[in-house]
Amino acid sequence: MNKMHPNVIIDFHTHAFPDHIAARAVPALAREGNVTAHLNGTTRDLIASMDRAGIDISVVCSIATRPSQFEGILAWSRDIRSSRIIPLPSVHPDDADLREKVRRIGDEGYAGIKMHAYYQDFFLDEEKLFPLYEELQQRNLFVVMHTGFDIAFPRIRRADPERILRVVARYPQLKLVTTHLGAWDDWQNVEKLLAGRNIYMDISFTSSCLDDARIKAIMMSHPEEYILYGSDSPWRDQSESIQHLRSLRLPEHLEAKVLGENAARLLGEI
Ligand SMILES: [Zn+2]
Repeated sequence: MNKMHPNVIIDFHTHAFPDHIAARAVPALAREGNVTAHLNGTTRDLIASMDRAGIDISVVCSIATRPSQFEGILAWSRDIRSSRIIPLPSVHPDDADLREKVRRIGDEGYAGIKMHAYYQDFFLDEEKLFPLYEELQQRNLFVVMHTGFDIAFPRIRRADPERILRVVARYPQLKLVTTHLGAWDDWQNVEKLLAGRNIYMDISFTSSCLDDARIKAIMMSHPEEYILYGSDSPWRDQSESIQHLRSLRLPEHLEAKVLGENAARLLGEI
């Protein structure tokens, strides 16, 4: 990880699937969310997209929708791990031994995991997650947490800024990466409750969901070390999302931090 060159570009939020699952899963997910798939969902297609966009590394977020998927996701993560692809395994909150699963992920050298309150049916600040947060915090692993509403689900507040604050109050050392600029489609509460705090946020799937001036204002009011570039590929095109970020005309040093420096630090802090 310390071999990363200084201008490395890291997409902190992508999705991909095993080849035999991608052909079925990607069209189904696109339909459910009423979104466009820009790639076929395989890692091969993702790497071709990274080459077109000038992205060095993509973080691939997996989501275990059942406890039994843990082993399969971990094995697949091992398969796809490379200098270009950093997979994040996932644990289901109903797993009988959350701590043991987190330990295994840490022992295999992953820097973090991915969780999704809608696909995994939990509330961010509910008690069943506490052992998971404790173990992550203890092992210095981060969690990329889907936050805000989700385009494919009813608008129940499962992972909103108030719940985020409750989690960080209880686990102040937990490296929590919120997604979609703090909370998707709940940006008024992001501005009110999250902006300016030392809470990581990626910027994925925000362009054209809120206007550029507001995206930039949230980014400019947030601590510079805590913002990460992410596309949410295949649901967004990586080249377009990089172009969009550049079109915001952030101060140069901030753009460099967002595009890769912050991510490289987070991925290296194991
Ligand atoms: Zn996503």
